[in-house]
Amino acid sequence: MIDFISPELLVKGSREFGVNLSDEAVERFNMFAKFLCEQNEHINLTRIVEPEKIVTRHFIDSLALCAAVPFYDGMKVCDIGTGAGFPGIPLLIAHPGIHLTMIDSTNKKLDFVRAALRELELDANVITVRAEDFGQNEKVREKYDLVTSRAVAQLSVLVEYSLPLCRMGGKFAPLKAVLSDEERTNGIRAANFLGSCLLGDYKFDIPEPDGEVLKREIILFQKTAHTPAEYPRNGSKIAKRPL
Ligand code: SAM
Repeated sequence: MIDFISPELLVKGSREFGVNLSDEAVERFNMFAKFLCEQNEHINLTRIVEPEKIVTRHFIDSLALCAAVPFYDGMKVCDIGTGAGFPGIPLLIAHPGIHLTMIDSTNKKLDFVRAALRELELDANVITVRAEDFGQNEKVREKYDLVTSRAVAQLSVLVEYSLPLCRMGGKFAPLKAVLSDEERTNGIRAANFLGSCLLGDYKFDIPEPDGEVLKREIILFQKTAHTPAEYPRNGSKIAKRPL
C-alpha cells in the first residue's frame, strides 16, 4: 500500500529520465522512504526527511543516471561511497536484474543499507572498504561494467577511486551538482591519464513541487586503456596531491 510518498511525483519524475517504474518498484520506493525516515530517528542517515524531497533529491536524482547509461540484466555496477544507499538502491529497485556492489568506508550506514535490502527483499553486495583499497584488489579491479558515485569527492579524486574498477569498455558516471569549469577540466585530464575518454556531459534540471529546481550534471567516461598499476594511490597521497 502506497501511503508515504506521492506515487505520481515519483512516476512522472522517473519518466523524464526514461524510467518506467513497475507497480512493485513504486511500492519498494515507498517502503524504502518509510524505512529511511524511521531509521533516521536512530542514526544520522540523511538531512532530507520530507517525503516529497526524498522522492526528488534521493530517488529521481539517483534514477537520472538511467538517461545517460543503458541498464541491463546481469550488468555489474559498483556504487562508491554509497552512504545510505544512493544512488545504488534506487538503481536496484528500478533495475532488479543488475549485479550491484555498494561500498563505503564507514560501516554504520552500510548496516542500514543491509537492513533496507532485507526489508525490500533485494540482493546486493555491501562491502565496508575504502575505494582506494578496493581498486587495488585484483578480484574486483577492472571488473565492473559501470562505476558510479554521488556526493563523495571532487571529480579528479573520484576518477582515481573509480576508473581502476571499470572493465575495458566499461563506464564511469558520477552524479554531481553542476561542476565548476576548473573541476571539470581537471577531472577530464585525470580521467584521460587513467585510461578513459569522455563520452558525454549531461546537464539537467530536476523540478520540485515547491518550485525549486535542482541543477545536476552527469559526466560520462568510457574505459579505453588499462589504468596504471600504481593507481589508485593510498588515501593520504590522493588527498595531498589529487591528479
Ligand atoms: N552517496 C551517498 C549519497 O549521495 O547520499 C553518500 C554521500 S556522503 C556525503 C559521502 C560518503 O562517501 C560517506 O558515506 C563516506 O563514508 C563515503 N566515502 C568518502 N570517502 C570514501 C572512500 N575513500 N572510500 C569509500 N567511501 C568513502
